[in-house]
Amino acid sequence: MKYVDEFRDPEAARALLHRIEDLAGRLDRPLRVMEICGSHTHTIYRHGLEHLLPQQIEFIHGPGCPVCVIPMGRVDDAIWLARQPGVILTTFGDMMRVPGSKESLLQVRATGADVRFVYSPLDALPIARENPDKQVVFFAIGFETTVPSTAVTLERARTEGLDNFSVFSNHVTTEQPLRAIVDGGETEIDAFIGPGHVGTVVGTKAFEFLAEEFNRPVIVTGFEPLDVLQAVAMLLEQFVSGEVAAGRATVQNQYARVVRPEGNTVAQKLMERVFRTRDTFEWRGLGWIDDSGLAIAPEYAAWDAEVKFTVPGVRVADPPACECGSVLTGRIKPWQCRVFGTACTPATPIGTCMVSPEGACAAYYNFGRLDRETANAVTILD
Ligand code: SF4
Repeated sequence: MKYVDEFRDPEAARALLHRIEDLAGRLDRPLRVMEICGSHTHTIYRHGLEHLLPQQIEFIHGPGCPVCVIPMGRVDDAIWLARQPGVILTTFGDMMRVPGSKESLLQVRATGADVRFVYSPLDALPIARENPDKQVVFFAIGFETTVPSTAVTLERARTEGLDNFSVFSNHVTTEQPLRAIVDGGETEIDAFIGPGHVGTVVGTKAFEFLAEEFNRPVIVTGFEPLDVLQAVAMLLEQFVSGEVAAGRATVQNQYARVVRPEGNTVAQKLMERVFRTRDTFEWRGLGWIDDSGLAIAPEYAAWDAEVKFTVPGVRVADPPACECGSVLTGRIKPWQCRVFGTACTPATPIGTCMVSPEGACAAYYNFGRLDRETANAVTILD
């Protein structure tokens, strides 16, 4: 298949792995590389990349799975909205399975609430047109990748005067949590594999602070296995060449077939028009981070569910058994959580990281399940 097969070519993968082994052999220390985006985590485990790489390279899974970072209180708020008389709550399929403090949206639907999954926020507009006597709310999540589609939906609702539609915004941005992780010092990260989807919107320039302020190399990367292997080789070259040691880490664009340095400026202007930055927002595992969430701008207040309804603003701690916070910040691997694969599975998730296929726990459960030593013992490398 064009644009897929050429990025999964075994000969090209072997050549890249040999190059990586050669470069890794010249490192003076092991490297911890954070892949920010959940889609990269999925690629890494689906294709067994971690077990193919030399021992000097360890992947740390970052907070870039949008479902995973939603705190339990915001799920409870969405459930409260779904229970209001005359409300139809719409959201992406994965969000329906995320556990709130007592139940999930899927369970709430089973008790009679009208909760519907959609593939795009735009799919919620026909539901609003067809149900003029109901209030249709879209429970919006995601990083800069999905913010433009919510913004387009809000613009369309305003243009049409569709006043029985609103958005419960839980959109977040990438810069501040990355600053929190690097600044916090709890997790040592040497380099980053940057998110190609987010890069499409914000451009490679949005990650320059990591190189300029923290001397961490970033490779904005695509999502096929060869993309990730090439990104690892590019990172190693920055270390082996002595550029990082000299304080000259840079941002490079491996995903140049899609991402431009300046990103999608049309989408950026749309986001600026429709959203404003919240003073602070709660993240699962990272706590409250200033300037990291997006609320709907006052000009669109008539379509803002947090203005239209008295959303309770629930604050609730994660269940004691759940270690998603430690997984999301790279402090532990998923299989080190004491309920991984026993009480917590994709069919019975306790935490968010087991819900979406992009979640690190789900990726490990579906494709990995083994710690690295065990996996290396059973993996045959040529
Ligand atoms: S195994 Fe379940 S509870 Fe543990 S960190 Fe992963 S998602 Fe959270």
